[in-house]
Amino acid sequence: MNEQLSILEQLPDDFLTLEPFNIRQVFPNPTLLHLKGNKSPPLFVSILLHGNEITGLKAMQSVLSRYEDILPRSLYLFIGNVAATEKNQRYLSNQVDYNRCWPGTDMPPNNITDLMLKVFEHVTQKPLFAAVDVHNNTGTNPHYAGITSVTQENQHLAAMFNHIALVYQHPKGVSTMAFNQVCPAVTLECGKPGDDAGILHAADYLDSLLHMDHLPQRPVAAHDLQLVKSLATLNIPDNVSFDFNLNAQVDLTFETGFERKNFTEIKTTDVFAHTRVDRPLAITNEYGEDVTDQIMRIENGRVYLNKTLIPAMITLDKTIIRQDCLCYLLADYHS
Ligand SMILES: [Zn+2]
Repeated sequence: MNEQLSILEQLPDDFLTLEPFNIRQVFPNPTLLHLKGNKSPPLFVSILLHGNEITGLKAMQSVLSRYEDILPRSLYLFIGNVAATEKNQRYLSNQVDYNRCWPGTDMPPNNITDLMLKVFEHVTQKPLFAAVDVHNNTGTNPHYAGITSVTQENQHLAAMFNHIALVYQHPKGVSTMAFNQVCPAVTLECGKPGDDAGILHAADYLDSLLHMDHLPQRPVAAHDLQLVKSLATLNIPDNVSFDFNLNAQVDLTFETGFERKNFTEIKTTDVFAHTRVDRPLAITNEYGEDVTDQIMRIENGRVYLNKTLIPAMITLDKTIIRQDCLCYLLADYHS
């Protein structure tokens, strides 16, 4: 696997028209582009750290097609896992996850941690305006930003994208956590890969950062941004049968439109699910400790939460639920 870093000072001619499956005809290796603009310091944008999350590529094609000549602000564009992009995978079976390898990672040193260190050291020799890492996720989630520390500048970056943002400290080795040490830094979650709305949203966001003189000095108004944190992971034990149909004769039932509860507040009096068994769910905190009894209770066959929480990343795919989880439970950051 050739995972050498290429550094280019010019946009290759074919950038605007390349497709994920032929990306290596233009970028055989992970590539850092340094494009000059009118304003400095440069904006750093990373795309395709996860190869199948193609919205960042499409968004940058849209942004760069808007400028024939010089950009409004200088730009570093890092194009990450091109080998996985070509195969439409997050990362290949003989690779590590590119977005767990940035400085601060808890992974043992390897060729990708070396690569990310090289990129990081190259682009942080001089100040950066901001760092934006573009991703996608599965399921029907709203677009939202992730930040790793609650500074005014990070909150402005997040609020420019949507009115809800996730504050997170795990996993380690993500781009945003590394860049947060040197400039305002944000991860964009742009819905499902390749959705037109996500591409346009990310492109307009990145374009406005290229135009902006500076981030606002005033604090972000409370009603402009709700900060949430991840509190727990919700699993269904293997011996519990379940369905998304309240009439199904199974141990645990959710209403048919359960996915619509994504990023909505579930209050302590709202019915979360129905069950005929005593332990229909297994809930763990970020350290993997069982917190089921703290988080939920059962009354007359109805499952309730013990505090107001926000389910996120809900999937209805039964295979993914068994392999991974049903959803995460978020809480208000300040709670
Ligand atoms: Zn990702």
